[in-house]
Amino acid sequence: MISSIIDQTTIERLRALINGAQRIAITCHKSPDGDALGSTLALCHVLRRLGKDAVVVTPDMAPKSLEFIPGVRELVVFTRQEARARLVLNEAQLIFCLDFNSLKRIDRLGEIIEPLKTKRVLIDHHLEPENIFDVMISHPEASSTCELVFRVLMQMGLLRFMDRMTASCLYVGLTTDTGGFAYSCDSPEFYEILASVMRRRIDRIDLYNKAMNTFSADSLRLQGYAISEKMQLFPEHGASLITLSKEELERFNYTRGDTESLVNKPLAIPGIYWSVFLREDADKIKVSCRSQGSFSVSDICARYFNGGGHENAAGGDFCGTLDEAVARFYQVLTDLFPDLPIQHNEQQSQPINNNENDI
Ligand code: 5GP
Ligand code: MN
Repeated sequence: MISSIIDQTTIERLRALINGAQRIAITCHKSPDGDALGSTLALCHVLRRLGKDAVVVTPDMAPKSLEFIPGVRELVVFTRQEARARLVLNEAQLIFCLDFNSLKRIDRLGEIIEPLKTKRVLIDHHLEPENIFDVMISHPEASSTCELVFRVLMQMGLLRFMDRMTASCLYVGLTTDTGGFAYSCDSPEFYEILASVMRRRIDRIDLYNKAMNTFSADSLRLQGYAISEKMQLFPEHGASLITLSKEELERFNYTRGDTESLVNKPLAIPGIYWSVFLREDADKIKVSCRSQGSFSVSDICARYFNGGGHENAAGGDFCGTLDEAVARFYQVLTDLFPDLPIQHNEQQSQPINNNENDI
């Protein structure tokens, strides 16, 4: 039995907003992941089946690795189609905000949405959402936004519109946001939702492999290099740090999504319960953190890296050089463990020439 965790008055307000809108825009956070794309596209499919003109607008492109999600090709991508994205948002009679908790997370789409009088609906599972939504469905205890979209459909009595395509989208988010059913899926209801999704006869193994087990050769080599040569362990602090510079990324022909699950890997080592990955992007250092148990990386990201997220999976940005970001990480170590000396088994940090393309 799947319980109704969303307040029924919220559901009725949402129903009224949907009934009163024909043109509906749905958006999600920048660098969209499996949950962001799966939840927005699932909702879009259902709204279209209800006869609505629904469009998903994303701040930037989906990574190549997620192009298999049904509907990805129809996204309106702001960085590619700015005029169309503006038009869709300006003309929308209702805007759904999925899988993010603050307009900062949608880059320049935030500047477009903020002054609009259009009603906004939040469906999200990140901590501490901004209070700028007309309907807020915020459940940080949920595995994923896909789980919440399922629950919204269920409580609105719309599950009959969850066809195979919609179920496939939901399955992607349920899978990726739990690391392939490894974490954030302790509630038995999660598996009841999964069962309901699977009853739509989705191609589960194919979706699982595409979402979780598909990497380019370059990406696998880059991850191998990062673990072998760049992973620094701080056993006393239970911590791991991986950094990748622009030069290292270029050497492995990096494209977005190539380092997707890298930050999780050090947590496989007994005694390592938090992991930080610093990646030198074009204009900033991208920070990714993961942890196990009650050690909150969202606090660390909020305090030191201008970000946030969930207790065990969070991220942020650092404006400065990679070395300065590493210095900030050391600051975290000394602040959190003032009595512990920092002794780490630093791997050699000189890049090694292990890529044929680089000769
Ligand atoms: P990832 O490490 O996979 O990029 O992100 C992990 C989690 O942290 C996701 O739930 C994501 O929403 C959140 N997150 C990632 N980057 C940022 C950021 O720059 N700001 C905030 N507030 N959250 C982030
Ligand atoms: Mn999510």
